[in-house]
Amino acid sequence: MLASMNLVRNLAPMRHIAILLSLLIFTAACADKPGATTSPRLYALDCGAIEVDDMALFSRDGAFDGQRYSLVVPCFLIMHPSGMLLWDTGYDEAMAVLPDGVSGGGFHSRVDVRLSDQLAQLGLSPGDIDYVALSHHHPDHAGNAGLFLQSTLILSAAEHGYMFSSEARASTQMYETYAGLKNANLALFDGARDVFGDGTVIIKSAPGHTPGSTVLLLKLENAGSLLFTGDLYTHEAGRRAQAIPDFTMDADALRQSIIEFEELAAAENARVVIQHEPADFAALPAFPDYLD
Ligand SMILES: [Zn+2]
Repeated sequence: MLASMNLVRNLAPMRHIAILLSLLIFTAACADKPGATTSPRLYALDCGAIEVDDMALFSRDGAFDGQRYSLVVPCFLIMHPSGMLLWDTGYDEAMAVLPDGVSGGGFHSRVDVRLSDQLAQLGLSPGDIDYVALSHHHPDHAGNAGLFLQSTLILSAAEHGYMFSSEARASTQMYETYAGLKNANLALFDGARDVFGDGTVIIKSAPGHTPGSTVLLLKLENAGSLLFTGDLYTHEAGRRAQAIPDFTMDADALRQSIIEFEELAAAENARVVIQHEPADFAALPAFPDYLD
């Protein structure tokens, strides 16, 4: 009896601790609830990878001839107090079932983890994403756009015009990856688009790689400004060399976009995130951690 009384007495403070602990856990869960943010947050998601046998294609002057390189394919979720934006959607997550991925032309592409599974880790489904913006229409950026037909799709008018042109449709393989977006809820823009109207998330036209490529400027409360390249650059060495890749659709436009991008980066004192550069991805908080 005495022993059990002591046990009850000993357990009482433990019960308090248990209640406190569950309250703390509940509070933490609430803090992480989507939409509960008071300032923008950035999540960097793994949306694929590309092993390149020879980077020669990435500079017209031969600077990268014979170099192998491993590129990352990220997606970026911006959780803003007024809504959620996904910047680029990576490779089609259906590729995750292919253990060796897809190879062709010296490029070996794969998806290790599904975008929808990563969103689920945050308690989100594709239907929770208000806006999806594509830096451009290539399959390593638009691959999962079809998951977000309920979202508003933000595109530069020039990119949209090209994507559904007869020239682009003729590239059947590429066109098939985004053909479903024909019926998406579109928000087209020229020049720049301030997504939430408060200057924290601005998408800016940066043509050249494709006719309507765009870049994204994000202003975070603690981390400051970040500038996302889309495919204006492919890797850090490409930025240093201001390289013009072989497959550039308009080289003069790309040169001008590079000038404007670097001016903007300097004016905003922005941290540049070259999207395919592994070092830039690795320097961001590992998902599900975030930058704010
Ligand atoms: Zn790309």
